[in-house]
Amino acid sequence: MGIAKQEPMSEHTTFRIGGPADYFATPNTVDQIRQMLLSAKSKGLPVHVMGLGSNLLVSDDGVRGVVIQLAEGFSEINVLDGGRIHAQAGASNEAIAKAALEAGLTGYEFASGIPGSVGGAAIMNAGAYDGEFKDVCAVVYCMDLDGNLQVIVGPDAGFGYRRSIMAERGLIVIGVMLQLQPGDKDAIAARMAELKQRREEKQPLEMPSAGSTFKRPEGAYAGKLIQDAGLKGYTIGGAQVSTKHSGFIVNAGGATAADVRALIRHVQQKVQEDSGYLLEPEVRMWGFDD
Ligand SMILES: Cc1cc2nc3c(=O)[nH]c(=O)nc-3n(C[C@H](O)[C@H](O)[C@H](O)COP(=O)(O)OP(=O)(O)OC[C@H]3O[C@@H](n4cnc5c(N)ncnc54)[C@H](O)[C@@H]3O)c2cc1C
Repeated sequence: MGIAKQEPMSEHTTFRIGGPADYFATPNTVDQIRQMLLSAKSKGLPVHVMGLGSNLLVSDDGVRGVVIQLAEGFSEINVLDGGRIHAQAGASNEAIAKAALEAGLTGYEFASGIPGSVGGAAIMNAGAYDGEFKDVCAVVYCMDLDGNLQVIVGPDAGFGYRRSIMAERGLIVIGVMLQLQPGDKDAIAARMAELKQRREEKQPLEMPSAGSTFKRPEGAYAGKLIQDAGLKGYTIGGAQVSTKHSGFIVNAGGATAADVRALIRHVQQKVQEDSGYLLEPEVRMWGFDD
């Protein structure tokens, strides 16, 4: 297990933004995760858990306490019988989609372009193109902050739009069991390629971001509301409402977390004035006072 001190979070977020974490741990086993939790608890340090940092805005002052990253070092994927795939929380959606394709299993194509870990997908109930994590989730293996294991079956995981019981209870996802279906390899590959192309056409993938900044409000689209409020391309410091997709705030070069935060507030205020909708951030924020 690696433990770094004063680790710049800008190295670990897709926004490429964020000050230092006091401690940054990368455990490789369940026991090491537990060890980190108990050691942080005994020292009274707060704990934050992350995957691939693709939905995170970390403040310029960084995060106090311990950040535990479940990523490459905790990313085993095993294709089992009956269309099941077991993955450790740090496995990337892309790697799982690839393993499913190789095994001729369909159902995970929707997630192949979501640039996060499967732990993050479970916590957020990640979704795209008519697919949601809850559709394929058989079991979520969790640990509470005292190091106790909990097994939650899919229907009990309280999945809703970008929400789960694991998030509400502050549980750490350590692994998942997915249930997929037998499918035609060519059709699976074609669907993945089609979705990749749609993302490339619509999303500013060439610039650092955390994906859609805001949740989709009931009955509307955040990107459309933002565009209608005249904010496409609106910039504060290095943070910009993407000119390609108004639902994304991008780091257009040297953006600070304060720039992004100010832009989020500005967008919320202008959209509310313009349409009455109060946009709620989808991006998780760490290290801010409010
Ligand atoms: C270009 C781009 C496109 C995107 N497209 C989509 C999309 O189509 N659909 C979609 O839903 N999202 C999308 N996202 C957002 C993001 O990829 C998802 O929210 C993803 O599920 C986050 O996973 P992560 O591992 O990066 O989580 P992180 O960003 O590391 O963490 C996000 C949250 O999950 C928690 N968390 C992460 N892992 C764990 C764990 N193992 N246990 C407990 N808590 C954990 C963190 O504490 C944090 O609150 C996009 C992002 C980008 C940059």
